[in-house]
Amino acid sequence: MIQSEQNIPCPVCKTGIPFDPRQLVMGTQFVCPGCGAGVGLAMESRELVDKALTAFEMERAKLAGRSK
Ligand SMILES: [Zn+2]
Repeated sequence: MIQSEQNIPCPVCKTGIPFDPRQLVMGTQFVCPGCGAGVGLAMESRELVDKALTAFEMERAKLAGRSK
């Protein structure tokens, strides 16, 4: 029911790479299933993603509350 898995397009072959945003924020590298390219965040990007993710989680919580 909860769709927590997300995809980022591979920068090399545009294949959707499934990733867990929380793991991404923690610095985990994800490997493209299409071409094997590694995708991860630079340290300076992690703070931005963390903020965006927090905002996203807050919006989702609001929507979940509303749809009851
Ligand atoms: Zn790829």
